[in-house]
Parts: sequence; C-alpha cells; structure tokens
Amino acid sequence: MQEGGFKMVPSITRRQFLKASTAGSLSFASLGCSALGPTMAPASFEHPQAGKYNIYFGDLHNHNEVGYAQGSLDRAFEIAREHLDFFAFTPHGYWHDIGHYENSIEKKWLDGFEVTKRRWPEVLQAVRKYDQPGRYVPIAGFEWHSTSLGDYHIIFPTLEAEYIRFDDLRKFQSFAKERGAIMIPHHPANRLGHRGANLARLDPDASPVIEIFSEWGNAEHDRACSPYVRHTEGGRWTQNTLHHFLEQGHRLGVIASTDDHLGFPGAYREGLAAVLATELTREGIFDAIRNRRTYALTGDRIALDFQLNGQLMGRELPYTRRRELAVTVTGWDQLDRVEILKNNRVLHRDFPMDRVPAASSWKKPVLLRFEYGWGPWPALDMTRICDWDFQIRVEGGLLEDVQPCFQSGPLDETRRDKILERSDKHLRIQSFTALRQQFEDISTKAVVLKVRGGPDTRVNIALNKPANVSLSQTFRQLADSGEMLFTGDFPKESAMLHRLVFHDHYQTSYKVTDTDDGKNLNWYYLRVIQSNSQHAWSSPIWVEPRAGKPNV
Ligand SMILES: [Zn+2]
Ligand SMILES: [Zn+2]
Repeated sequence: MQEGGFKMVPSITRRQFLKASTAGSLSFASLGCSALGPTMAPASFEHPQAGKYNIYFGDLHNHNEVGYAQGSLDRAFEIAREHLDFFAFTPHGYWHDIGHYENSIEKKWLDGFEVTKRRWPEVLQAVRKYDQPGRYVPIAGFEWHSTSLGDYHIIFPTLEAEYIRFDDLRKFQSFAKERGAIMIPHHPANRLGHRGANLARLDPDASPVIEIFSEWGNAEHDRACSPYVRHTEGGRWTQNTLHHFLEQGHRLGVIASTDDHLGFPGAYREGLAAVLATELTREGIFDAIRNRRTYALTGDRIALDFQLNGQLMGRELPYTRRRELAVTVTGWDQLDRVEILKNNRVLHRDFPMDRVPAASSWKKPVLLRFEYGWGPWPALDMTRICDWDFQIRVEGGLLEDVQPCFQSGPLDETRRDKILERSDKHLRIQSFTALRQQFEDISTKAVVLKVRGGPDTRVNIALNKPANVSLSQTFRQLADSGEMLFTGDFPKESAMLHRLVFHDHYQTSYKVTDTDDGKNLNWYYLRVIQSNSQHAWSSPIWVEPRAGKPNV
C-alpha cells in the first residue's frame, strides 16, 4: 500500500497476456496478481520498443488550480496515473519581466504565483505519494514565464525540488545544472520579444530538448498543421520554428506535452511526450531526455523507431558517406504518410495507406476504434454532461492492447475516464462527454483496441449508460464499413465503431540509403501523419560534415 491508500498494482505486459492465454485459461489469478481481481485499475499498456529501449508516454507540462489554472492537484495526479507512464506537474511559478496590462490582468498571474508558493509543499507531497517506479513516475517542476527570453518549464530528477523565483536566466540555468534538472523551452514559435524562445540565450546542457507541440499548436515550421491561434501572443514567427533553429545549427531534441489548463495530464490531441528508456524510473526518463531519445506526438501513441547506421534518434554522428536510415512505425490509425526529412526537406516518402490488404492481412492484429460523444449541439442550449458505462467484448479474437483517447473537457472534479476492467476478451469503460468546453470543439472520446482475430471475429458493444443499447458486428462487416450506435432519438448522444484498420495500413518498416559528400552538417528526422491527422516527429540525428564539427 502507498501512503495515499491506493493499491500497488503489478502491470501486465502483452507478452504475459499471450503467455498466459496460450498456456490455457487466462485469468488474473493465474498471473499471480490477486490484487487485480475483476477490476484492474489503473490499466496497464503495452510498451513498444525502439532498439534496446522501451517507449514510455507521458506529459511534462501541465497546469491545475495550483497556479492560475483549474482542477484539483490530486485529480491531476490520479488522471495521469490512469493513462500515462510519467507526469510532470509544472505549476505557474514566476514571470520575471511581467508588465502592467489592460484592466490590470497581470493580477491573475501574480495571484497564481502566490498559490504555487503557498502550496509547493503539497506539490512535493503529491509527487512522493503517487511515486510508483516501474509503473507510474510523477515528476516535480514549475513554469517560468518570460516575455524577452521565452517560457521554460523546469523538471527535477529527484523528489527534493525547490521552488525559487529567478530574475536572471543564467542563474536559473546554473541552478538547473547543479541539480541535474532540465529546462524545456515551450511554445517557442511566438515572436522573439513576445514570449518566443530566445535560443541565443539557451544553454544546451540545461535544455537538450524543445517542446514543439502543445495545446498552443505546432512549432515545426510556419506552415505546418495546427497553427498558433488559441492564445493572445499572435501566430508563428518563421525565425522561431524548429526548422529555423535546426538551420541555425542548434542540436535540440523534440518533445511535446499538453500545457493543458484544465488539470488534465495527457489530454488527447493537446500533445504527448515519448521517451526511449530502459526502465520506467525518473533516472530512466531523465537519461532519455538528456540524450534526446525523445519524440513529439499530438495524441495517438504512435511507436517510432528511427535509426541511422544503427544509431537512435538524438545522436550526433561523425561524418560517414553512406547513411542507412531504418524506419519502423506502428500507428493507432491508418498511416497516411511517413516521411524522412533531411535538412528540413523530405528525402523519402512512404504511403502505407495505398497498400491493398489481402487474405493474409488477417494474420496480424487489426485496430478497432470505438468513439463516443456527440450529443446536443451547443446552439440548442441543452448542453449537458453525459455519463458512459459500456463493455466491449471480443468473440473469437484476442484483445492484445488498448489505447485510451481521453480529452480534457468538460472539466469535472468528480467524474473520471477509466478502464474499469480489462481481459484478453473484454474491456469495461467508464467515461463522460459533453459538447462544450472541449479542445477544438470535438466532444468525443475513444478507445482503440488492437485485436488478433479473423473475418468471423465478432465485437459486441453493450452500453449501460447513457442508455441500454448495443451493437454487434463481425470483423468482416467492419472491414467494409464502420457502424453507428445511437443512444436514442435526435439529439441524444451517439457512438461509432470505425472501419477496422489492417496491419498493412497502421504499420510500416523499411530502409533507405542516403549518401552525402559531407560539405555541410546534415540532420535527419522522421515525420508521421496518420489519416485521423494525429502526428509524430522524431528527434533529429545529426551527421557532421567531412571536415569536422562546424562553428555555428
Ligand atoms: Zn508557458
Ligand atoms: Zn504552461
């Protein structure tokens, strides 16, 4: 038992599932996990691999009522534990060059910093209380605003973390380095002087990675998807995008996190951090970030393995003429395209969506997305929170893995999105939706199932809430068409099973060879775009020019 009174729950990997199920009957008791019972909480997820590393997913930048955002502190740690591997809570800490603004709005920020100062001991207590190395890693940190130098959030590698207000960036950087802490610049693409990242003042020893995606938008380049439209500070400045920074010779890894202000870590579509680490511990995560074994995601937990001559993302390699680029991508939807970029231009493009599945495609697991929500249109003035409780059962198939897609809105202190039960045959989900207060006006949430089966495999969905309705489809039917489930007449909430996605379409693996005479520094990175518009970007791999490391 932990200090906070929740049960330590051993995690089950897919391999354990498969081993147990092939050995005969699969039950949690047979895995020696009596604590699991019929209700396995929190849920555990398969960790994909890249090289010798596991891939872990988390959120390193997030806000709640400690600071000037919303949602309780405990709720945020609980939500994170439910669906993430790691979570850094980064309360609003300080704004060294804050001004005096219209309607004295600076008071909101100054009051928020006082809340953080007062409740800092509670933040550290929560990190200690929820710490479960190997299962769930909470991290302490805080945010530092700067109009002139750009915002940073600092994350600490230990449970001892000090909250200090720095007026001088250099002193802040020394403080971070002395403690082995990491400072991550975020929403970098604002204009310099208007909270955009000032990379001339960045210390790469304190800041090995940059947050290129969050609820602010995408900083990859000035014409990339998800522009900066949600905040006051204006759009993306070409000279403050990742492409420009890489052209300037900066050797930064990339990462994403939500910056969610409704206290919902890992909010779907707002950004997600991926790290390649040998173990799920604070040490493992910090080692990955320091070595730029990180990548950025928008929401879906796309697995990336990108190597150059056998070396992983984030590496700086000496000159070599021949570069073998090895790519393995496993998505959670159809892969529209997978692109290798060299010096910011596409060197190779792969279109998995063009492949034609064959009878043999059934030998590999398929993806099944169940999406639920919708409901009364806001203009009808009858918006409400809808509670969901449903089971998804697979007949004649094996449920191998699951991905939750839980978004932050609507804010509700007591309701939770949870995988209440999970076996190799079924899932039971508790959730809630509303067609208001959501990110990008999308009211739906979803779960994606990875199922090994065949055309005759059947999926049965039984709703207990909001109404007793059900849907049953064979995989043969779902290979041809998605199907809807209505909870009542218009305008009641509805749900749908999407057309299933074959392995041919969600997975790709190939090698491409590039040669270069080494006149200039080269950098390569991988960009993945799923058909549902979810993206992934790897950290770059750099290859030095033939003459050696240039002065930049
Ligand atoms: Zn910020
Ligand atoms: Zn923030």
